Amino acid sequence: MRYDVIILGAGPAGLSAAVYARRAGLTVLILDAGAPGGKMNLTAELENWPGDQKVAGPELAYRMYEHAMHFGAEQKYGNVTKIEDGEPKKVTCDDGTVYEGRTIIIATGTKERKMGIPNETEMTGRGVSYCAVCDGPFFRDEPVAVIGGGNSALQEADYLTRFASKVHVIVRRNVFRADKIVADKATDNPKIEVHFLRKPVEVLVEDNKVKGIRIENSETHEQEDLFVNAIFPFIGLDPVTDFAKDLGICNEQGYIVTDENMQTKVPGIYAAGDVRAKFLRQVVTATNDGAIAAQSISHHLNEA
Ligand code: NDP
Repeated sequence: MRYDVIILGAGPAGLSAAVYARRAGLTVLILDAGAPGGKMNLTAELENWPGDQKVAGPELAYRMYEHAMHFGAEQKYGNVTKIEDGEPKKVTCDDGTVYEGRTIIIATGTKERKMGIPNETEMTGRGVSYCAVCDGPFFRDEPVAVIGGGNSALQEADYLTRFASKVHVIVRRNVFRADKIVADKATDNPKIEVHFLRKPVEVLVEDNKVKGIRIENSETHEQEDLFVNAIFPFIGLDPVTDFAKDLGICNEQGYIVTDENMQTKVPGIYAAGDVRAKFLRQVVTATNDGAIAAQSISHHLNEA
């Protein structure tokens, strides 16, 4: 079957695009390699989704998914490995399945950056975790460490204090990157101890479990061991665009460059959400991008 729009990624950008495209009467396939909702599923609470003073990420994800399904979008599991321009455009998944679409919206978002230090990979799922919502409750009354000084690190550190006895936050510079309101909330929390000018150098392991983290003073290079039972790195994000590299639509960091209608330089291929080169990556801006992309496609196809 050939779709009017194939949407890659079922996060807020993809689901919003699906709602707008279906309401414009287009046939829509959404492909995602994970659960619908994207990063909303990993976020305990949002306080900046207009209309909800506080909403649980997974709840908002489910509501957006239901909304898109209500309007008749089709959704399938698919880990996309290649997209090709042409009439039609082709989307290939890692199981060899090929889907055909008149247009494509890339809304694959970002993935967590890794620290790249010894034992990080080996201990992932055994004490190293990139999801506080998923794994925080396993470390009730135990000390944990959060790596990073951005909004994600400090918000998740704050969330982890619901469970952990203590949350050590390891920041490589002597300042946070996070917004002041987020930083103030975290530093006011008595369970949080911030270690500025420290960078992670090794995950310490004992009996196949995380025992701590070795950190190094960024100025003196002196090392010390911090004993914690879990490590949550939140050190930034990289775009998920490997499958699109050959099209020449990404910038140096791998983010996709679009015009204000969300179209890339390849006609009929659009991008929306965190995967775009943009100023502000938020649920609200992702949904905005998705709406514009779908509406642009509706115009584009009507003119064709
Ligand atoms: P950021 O890039 O904003 O912050 C990453 C943090 O990790 C920085 O403190 C950075 O240090 C540090 N870091 C990077 N690499 C390493 C390393 N190898 N070792 C140790 N520390 C490292 O990423 P976030 O994931 O926090 O946020 C991504 C985007 O999402 C941002 O635009 C953010 O504002 C947004 N966001 C917004 C939220 C909200 O508004 N409520 C919530 C969550 C995210 P340095 O500063 O030295 O580079």
